[in-house]
Amino acid sequence: MAKIILTGDRPTGRLHIGHYVGSLRERVRLQNSGEYDKVFIMIADAQALTDNADNPEKVRQNIIEVALDYLACGLDPEKSVIFIQSQIPQLYELTAYYMNLVTVSRLQRNPTVKAEIQARDFEASIPVGFFTYPISQAADITAFQANTVPVGEDQMPMIEQTREIVRKFNMTYGEALTEPDILLPSNEVCQRLPGIDGKAKMSKSLDNCIYLSETADEIKKKVMNMYTDPDHIRVADPGKIEGNTVFTYLDAFCRKEHFGRYLPDYSSLDELKEHYQRGGLGDVKVKKFLYAVLLEYLKPIRARRTEFEKDIPAVYKMLEDGSRKAEAVAAQTLAAVKGAMRINYFSDVNLINEQAKRFKK
Ligand code: ATP
Ligand code: MG
Repeated sequence: MAKIILTGDRPTGRLHIGHYVGSLRERVRLQNSGEYDKVFIMIADAQALTDNADNPEKVRQNIIEVALDYLACGLDPEKSVIFIQSQIPQLYELTAYYMNLVTVSRLQRNPTVKAEIQARDFEASIPVGFFTYPISQAADITAFQANTVPVGEDQMPMIEQTREIVRKFNMTYGEALTEPDILLPSNEVCQRLPGIDGKAKMSKSLDNCIYLSETADEIKKKVMNMYTDPDHIRVADPGKIEGNTVFTYLDAFCRKEHFGRYLPDYSSLDELKEHYQRGGLGDVKVKKFLYAVLLEYLKPIRARRTEFEKDIPAVYKMLEDGSRKAEAVAAQTLAAVKGAMRINYFSDVNLINEQAKRFKK
């Protein structure tokens, strides 16, 4: 069976370091591994509109930001098909058929959607489109017959929902769809990177992000103001590691060789943690180290972005070409789906002949 990847992001802002460790870094690695037959990367503008209906301009403006972040991180349109969701009409036809296979109560049980409804104050007035976005996400994944979906942990309920839809479809109408597997980052802290405010998830909607395109000064300011252990007041005090965002980020980004480069008094993260817990290690020293580590990742990303920013029409052209390629693939799946459902009336010669016979007097 062909090995196919689909994943993507909502164009609701520039991409942040949570995206990077949760999915983007993995995508680039998989794209370059040569192990996959096809890689599809989607800018989910239609999904972003489900909770930004009154602000389409925000979505419109951020498409190019996300595309630039992709290119800056090393996604390569020669190797991956990068496309815009709303330009693929087949996705909405698939969504419509899948809607019949899902109950309202099943959607209501989705923990990620529940949390997002709460975060957006939607309790009393959930847009139908937002409520049903897990179904449209199933269409996005299955349209490309993807079997691998590299995403953060918040996407687990969506992939489970997709698998249920695929099983139900294949059982009811016959095999036409591929059941996908989630691919989570192996480093657990990367599956859900917390925000700089210490909140459970770094997220554009929560405004607690370090963006990939930020300048060195902006990164420094954010790191220096980051949430640590509120009880670690004097340098001599023992400090806590659990829930201490600075250490969580070091868990996600720090490699052994960083100590030699930026903090040669220590040889490993364990040693640094141990000193912090014992007391005698100040927040500022740890933060300065984290800043140096982050900058090592983000500086080249920002530099590449600046290069791509010089030819914006070329980036839109790349998205247009990608969208065309994606549409051709989605059209094949839609044809298979309609065939399995036997609603491909005009190409069904048997049906036409049978009906002709039935009406013959
Ligand atoms: P929004 O607030 O608009 O939902 P977001 O920051 O949650 O934005 P998405 O576009 O919804 O970003 O997510 C895109 C991808 O990035 C998904 O695969 C998601 O799992 C992953 N991701 C987002 N935030 C994080 C995070 N903090 N840690 C790890 N992965 C993340
Ligand atoms: Mg999200």
